[in-house]
Order: sequence, then C-alpha cells, then structure tokens
Amino acid sequence: MSVRVRFAPSPTGFLHIGGLRTALYNYLFARHHSGRFILRIEDTDQTRYVPGSVEDILASLRWAGIEPDESPVHGGNYGPYTQSERTDIYRHHARLLVERGTAYYAFDTPEELERMRQRQQAAGIAPHYDRSSMRNQYTLGEEETQRLLVAGSPATIRLKVPLHGEVKFDDIIRGTIVVPCKDVDDQILLKSDGFPTYHLANVVDDHLMGITHVIRGEEWLPSTPKHVLLYHAFGWESPLFAHLPLLLNPDRSKLSKRHGDVAVRDYIAKGYFPEALVNFIALLGWNPDGDRELYMLDELIEAFSLERVNKAGAVFDIAKLDWMNAQYLKQFVVRDLPRLVAHIRPFLEERGWNVSDDYIARVIVLVHERIHRLPELIDFAPYMFSPPEYDDDFFRSVWTDDAAQLIEECTQLIESLEPWDAETLHNRISTLAQAHGVPFRIIGTLLRLAVTGRRVGAGMMDTIALLGKDETVRRLRTFLRWTSERVAHA
Ligand code: GLU
Repeated sequence: MSVRVRFAPSPTGFLHIGGLRTALYNYLFARHHSGRFILRIEDTDQTRYVPGSVEDILASLRWAGIEPDESPVHGGNYGPYTQSERTDIYRHHARLLVERGTAYYAFDTPEELERMRQRQQAAGIAPHYDRSSMRNQYTLGEEETQRLLVAGSPATIRLKVPLHGEVKFDDIIRGTIVVPCKDVDDQILLKSDGFPTYHLANVVDDHLMGITHVIRGEEWLPSTPKHVLLYHAFGWESPLFAHLPLLLNPDRSKLSKRHGDVAVRDYIAKGYFPEALVNFIALLGWNPDGDRELYMLDELIEAFSLERVNKAGAVFDIAKLDWMNAQYLKQFVVRDLPRLVAHIRPFLEERGWNVSDDYIARVIVLVHERIHRLPELIDFAPYMFSPPEYDDDFFRSVWTDDAAQLIEECTQLIESLEPWDAETLHNRISTLAQAHGVPFRIIGTLLRLAVTGRRVGAGMMDTIALLGKDETVRRLRTFLRWTSERVAHA
C-alpha cells in the first residue's frame, strides 16, 4: 500500500501553529514512506470563510518548505484541491447513501428542531436528533417524502446511525476507541441549501483521493465515530487514523492568542528561520529516539514515525524555540552568511539604514552570539548603523574626574592607530590604562558609553574596529562635548 496523506485546512483565518504541525507531520510521514502529501482546502462552510486565508496557508507552507505533491488544475490555475469546486460530487454521494438506505431525508424546520431541543432539555436528556418523533423519511413514509421533495420543500440528508451496537476504530496514537452508537447523532450530511457538511465532504474526499492515513488534531477525535459510520454507510474501507496531541500554553491551557503569537505569519515576521520553527514544531508531540534536538527537514523525514507521537498535550515553550533559532543562526553564520544578509536587509532598510552587504555581514558575525533572532540585532546594536544616544543615569554611574582626560587620550591614540585592527587597539589601550594606573575595564566601559551609549554589547575593541577610525573618533568627540555640558551644569 502506498501512503497518501492530506492536510485539509479550512480557510477560516491565518495558518495556526497547530495547523503547521499537522501539515508537517503529514508531510514527514508521506516523505518517510515515499508516499504522497496533498493539500485540500475545506471551504464548504462559506459563512466561516476569511478572505486571504487560502493565500496565507499556501504562503506559510511554502515558507516552511512543505510543498504538496499534487496541484490539480481548477479555474485555469494550478492549486490545491478545493471543496467548494466539488459540490456536485458531495450531492451525488449523499443521494447514493439515501439509495443504499444508510441516510435519509429530513424536513424539520429550525423551529421544530428548537422545540425538540427544548423538550430534551426539559426531560434532562442530551440533545440529539430524535429520528422517531421528527418529520423525516421514516416517520412520513416514502410517498409523502417524494411529494415533499417534488414540491421543493427544504430537505436535509442525515446519516442513519444504528440505534444499537458500537463504533470501533483504531487510532495509531491512542489505541482502540469504542463509542456506543446511541452516543452518535444522526449527523446532517447535506444541508437544505444543497451544500455538504464538513463530515460528508471530508469522508467522500478522503475516500476518492485514496487517503490511507488521516493524521489530524485531537479536536477532530469526537467526529471520528461519525466518519467511521459514514465509511460503513458507503461500504468503503476506512483509512487509518492518528489524532495528534493538543498544543498547550505553559500553564497547560489550550494554546491561545492570549499567551503569545499563534499564527505562523507572526513568526515569519519576527524573523525566525523556517528551519528552526519546523524543527521546534516537529518536537511538539513527537520525540525522536535519544536526546538529539536539532534536525533539518531531511533528517526529520528520516527519523519520523507516528509510533513516537505522544498522547499527552505538548507545551509550546517559546524559550526553546528561541534557543533553537539561535543554534541555526550560529550554523548559518558559518555556512550561509549571504542568506543572513539578505534576510536582515529589509529590516534595516525599513529604518532607513542603507549599508553595504559586507558591513552587514560583519555586524552579524560580531553580534550573532548575543541574540536569538536576526532582527534582534536592531535593538541590540542600533549603534552599528546610527549614532548612539546617551543616557544621563548611565553617564553618572561611570563618570569620574579623570574620565574626560582618559577619553581624550584614547581619542588621540585611536586617531593615529596603525594598523587598524582590534588586537592593536587592545594592546595600545592596555598600555594607556597601565600608564594611568586604572583597570582596562574602566576604560572599556567609558569607551563603550561614548561609542555605543550602551552598557552591554559585543567585544568593544571589535566593535570599534568595525565602526572604523573616522566614525569612532567622531563619536568620541561628540561625546566629550556632550559630557562637558553635563559637567558644567552639574
Ligand atoms: N477542515 C478540517 C480543519 O479545518 C480538517 C480536519 C481533518 O483533517 O479531517 O482542520
């Protein structure tokens, strides 16, 4: 049997982190088994459609490197399978079930259904469609049903769930699941407007598209008994199921916006690497053998198996993602610096900082070990791109009577420094510090204040070497002027 799996998002918003995980696990499973991975847009419920969401789903998957294997032509373009273009297929299949006697027409109005619900509530029983007391093919009989259909009365098609017995299926992650049929409702398959419900379209498509494994989020587990009954109703073999664990906030509540970003696009905008997000997400619910944590996509494909997916919810720990991203950042500095330059350039340009690729590359090399995400470079070291701002409190905390004299001497030393490199600079400033009997550290802090305006940064001598002689001297002189005003006003 060759594996065929699908990711079947509904276009009801931006692609969620949980959706990306479902897509990824399907993709990894397909690749691992040399099978096929398809993308199907489940847009039968047009009232929940959010414009732009299909585009966002496609763009986010492409960014992550998760490309579907089939792109059917529709509307003159190639794209994913799209349910709204397949309505006739679902209608046909709903009627097929009626012919087989495993589904039936029902003519209840919304008011009648509401009254039924109230009756059940008053009697203290769980709300469900009570086939025997409502207006449907069974209670009305064949003749009346035909008459109503011909007269154009609004009709739904419902699944005829057996009144007794149980539905049983195996879930690869959760084991055997058994549900009494009496707990499964006579699900509407085709609505009175002729559109299918999710359940019908999903099962028909999974069958017609030859899906062998349904891998999806745990929130769909309660629907699965209905789906299994639907497969029986058609006389089809059902695929295998694997329901993935929930994603949780650190407080173990269900992952939600209140705790942070949940849309993939937010992580893209923050400058996370696709490799890092994919690696991180792969480990949300799946654990490889051993304690290795860094896996590129092809290594994930190699290692992935559904048997190692957990039942328990997986906590989304952003600190872990940041750590992973930092690991990839270190790797890419060694392997692919031009990629990093291209990545950060738009963020710099947005601030009006136009500098050469070479300069950006050197700034990245200088500061990358102190940040997790490339765009953090902007907050961490803005002084590499524009003059520093000075802070009064910091100034007062480091200023001493001889500070101005020390900076003046450093400035002269720097002006005449040859050759221009961090090591020579370090040696000469050490000598100067010794001559004055002050620790090197004190001068380092003063220089850092003057040149960057900050308390922390990358190595000070490396920073100065990269900024260049003219820029450093200019900053030192500006700083001396600024401090003399402060001291005069003190
Ligand atoms: N359309 C459903 C969703 O939005 C698909 C569930 C499934 O994979 O069966 O998640």
